[in-house]
Amino acid sequence: MSARSWLVTSALTAAAVTLVGCAGPATEPSATPAAEPAHWSYDGDTGPASWADVDSSFETCAAGTDQSPIDLPATVPAPSTSIELSAEDTDGDVFDSGHAMEFESDGEGETLTFGGDEYSLQQMHAHVPSEHTVNGQPAAAELHLVNADADGKLLVLGVLVTEGAASDALAPFIEAATHEADDEDVTLDVSAVLPASLENYEYSGSLTTPPCTEDVQWVVLSTPISMSAEQIGTLEGAHSHNARPTQPLGDRTVVGGTAELG
Ligand SMILES: [Zn+2]
Repeated sequence: MSARSWLVTSALTAAAVTLVGCAGPATEPSATPAAEPAHWSYDGDTGPASWADVDSSFETCAAGTDQSPIDLPATVPAPSTSIELSAEDTDGDVFDSGHAMEFESDGEGETLTFGGDEYSLQQMHAHVPSEHTVNGQPAAAELHLVNADADGKLLVLGVLVTEGAASDALAPFIEAATHEADDEDVTLDVSAVLPASLENYEYSGSLTTPPCTEDVQWVVLSTPISMSAEQIGTLEGAHSHNARPTQPLGDRTVVGGTAELG
């Protein structure tokens, strides 16, 4: 197997890991119903406080000590690392995962280098309102750009969103989210989605959806981007309050970082 195909295969495996808990009503029925992931939600008996009870494979959601999201400090710690981001367009398709509107990359576009390791963009999805808070305050929305390295290690780039001017770069994603058709092809210019300042918070956390798997590197940009009220409303119309409450920081440390577009 070539290095390239190994990378793609590993990346797809990682993407499958991130999606395993996200199979909701929009997912096609499996041939083996017993193998379907248990149903979880953001409300009531199957909501965030009960995720570990929904399925034994979700136990990390309650037992984990490095969970996400978290409340971030008002002041960004001084930068101690630097990320390099490529500025390539990424092709993929937009669909409803059952828990969020999602753009799934073909795995051939945007890449980033963190700690000497190269990651490629697997998918992007939206939470309304934000999952991470800053000094206790949520933002209107949050985008998660899920990246994986060749070993399947995940790095999620979090982008907070405030209401303001429309985002032209996100228009194709949001436009596709308004359509009934599944799997709409979209090209995303990730570098144009990001804010001018790439200063960020970094910490080790988890998936914010079941199975809440840990050892996920989080990079949350401290400068929000803006989307119009209409754009946020479109995402909210698809999935509202799909945000897990913040989790205890525990023994972890939030450090600062910078990033630059290559
Ligand atoms: Zn997410």
